[in-house]
Amino acid sequence: MRMRKKRHGAERIALCADFIVHEASEMPPFPCELEIGCGKGAFICECAKRHPSVDFVAMEKIPDVLLLAAEKVKGMQIPNVRFIVGDAKNLRDYFPEKSVNRIYLNFSDPWPKSGHYKRRLTYRGFLEIYREILTDGGEIVFKTDNRGLFDFSLGEFSASGFELRDMTYDLHNSPFSADNIETEYEKIFSEKGFSINRVVAKLKNGVE
Ligand code: SAH
Repeated sequence: MRMRKKRHGAERIALCADFIVHEASEMPPFPCELEIGCGKGAFICECAKRHPSVDFVAMEKIPDVLLLAAEKVKGMQIPNVRFIVGDAKNLRDYFPEKSVNRIYLNFSDPWPKSGHYKRRLTYRGFLEIYREILTDGGEIVFKTDNRGLFDFSLGEFSASGFELRDMTYDLHNSPFSADNIETEYEKIFSEKGFSINRVVAKLKNGVE
């Protein structure tokens, strides 16, 4: 996500300190649910409001983007969301084994050049990390407008011991649309006429 540098970014982020995890000891109770690459936070805010008894953690690597998400949560005084400013490759620093019931990946960067496939958040190297932190039977819910990334991801999920469920190439015209929470990117891409791909990748029982 491109973003012009925020004026007074450091001061503004300090004002949201209560909602930001700076070290592992500040994490909410486990198990929780996790969004990776939360952008400006519309999805995680709505999710947290709909499910007040679930603890949510949202990770975003760009501080100025995360700031906007954290300000939303603070403004609405949503008690069950915490943020991590960081990169998915460092998830193990915050999450012990079997501590996350569900991971949301919404409109992850597609990294379309073939040489960049290891940077995609559904690359098997990342799936190995997710597999460690997911609880038994835990799942990844993945949405993207990008068909190339989607097809790549289906292969990676299957190769990494995940079972594919509730898959659709057109989420908004599927039975799953009733419970769907739209993200910022989803709104932009669907207004442009793109259909949205979505799948649930569930950890197979007994896979270590
Ligand atoms: N989920 C939002 C934003 C999608 S854009 C939406 O659907 O509207 C993808 C976001 O993922 C960007 O904000 C980007 O900074 C973040 N991101 C990309 N790679 C990441 C990584 N390795 N770790 C954490 N966040 C990442």
